[in-house]
Amino acid sequence: MNPKLENLLTQYSELESAAQELVNEQCCTLCSYCTQVCCRADICEEAIESPFLRLLHQREVLDSDRYGFLCETGCSLPAGRPPVCLEYFCDDQLYHQPDETHAKVLRTLGALVAHAGRNATGETHLVEIMQADQLEELAFQRLQKQFDESFLALELIRRFYNEGTLPDNANRVLDRITFSDEDH
Ligand code: SF4
Ligand code: SF4
Repeated sequence: MNPKLENLLTQYSELESAAQELVNEQCCTLCSYCTQVCCRADICEEAIESPFLRLLHQREVLDSDRYGFLCETGCSLPAGRPPVCLEYFCDDQLYHQPDETHAKVLRTLGALVAHAGRNATGETHLVEIMQADQLEELAFQRLQKQFDESFLALELIRRFYNEGTLPDNANRVLDRITFSDEDH
């Protein structure tokens, strides 16, 4: 495998897992009581269709046609979930954030993985590339810049949840993170 791709996989996996952990901490209470869980098998399917995500989770089929990867305890995919799974927050989750800053920070946290993988080749997102051989020829320099931006924002967000404050330069860092169109 191209060492640049291998490096990208390592960074993606680290970013996804760190962002997922923080999102879980913020959202698990409400989600655990939810009676209308937002997971859908057609979204899970995207993880199977994407060659990049398959390299991460190593799964070839859904657990079930009806529920995809959703099981009694939540999602059975430890890694390589479609970015929308991190990026989507229902109105209830945002409503229950203590204030506007918390809501903005949560939305930014959810967008870190999608931001990092944007425009991996032309305007195609890393996880939307459908030909495995195209993964060898990505815009690695652009991706690295976006990963750096996401990791920098992740550190600020982690600090915010630990200490309750954002440093003066926070908005400059957080505002570099872009959101998917459907998220606006
Ligand atoms: S994000 Fe909202 S809709 Fe989705 S499982 Fe959690 S509480 Fe339910
Ligand atoms: S979080 Fe898991 S179960 Fe839910 S939609 Fe995403 S891949 Fe499917």
